[in-house]
Amino acid sequence: MFLKIEHLGIAVRNLESANKLFAALLGTEHYKQEAVEREKVTTSFFQMGGSKIELLEASDPESPIAKFIEKRGEGIHHIAFEVEDIRATIKRLKEEGFHLLSDEPKPGADNKLIAFLHPKSTNGVLVEICQERH
Ligand code: ZN
Repeated sequence: MFLKIEHLGIAVRNLESANKLFAALLGTEHYKQEAVEREKVTTSFFQMGGSKIELLEASDPESPIAKFIEKRGEGIHHIAFEVEDIRATIKRLKEEGFHLLSDEPKPGADNKLIAFLHPKSTNGVLVEICQERH
């Protein structure tokens, strides 16, 4: 079951300046910054009530975020939904015909298990599903 929009992921060229800009915009500092080596990104998170903003900066020119910015510029990169049971959700979505980028959830930033759906199967929107790791 989908529970809520957990966060919006925004691709930025420079995390330091984007952190300052979003702190000024939202009136709160980011509460965590975290490198995710396997995705070649550095992330930072802002909390607003039950949702978050995740800023993503490429840590390598081969990073998917670097490629995204090259192609489409800075901006909204993905929308992340919190789900109750990520394995059951992956199974259900595959049965519904959605194309997932991985069959197994993998560890993501902010203590989550995550999986992505291919934007071709979701009207051009890169969708992340995530579940809190216990
Ligand atoms: Zn995300």
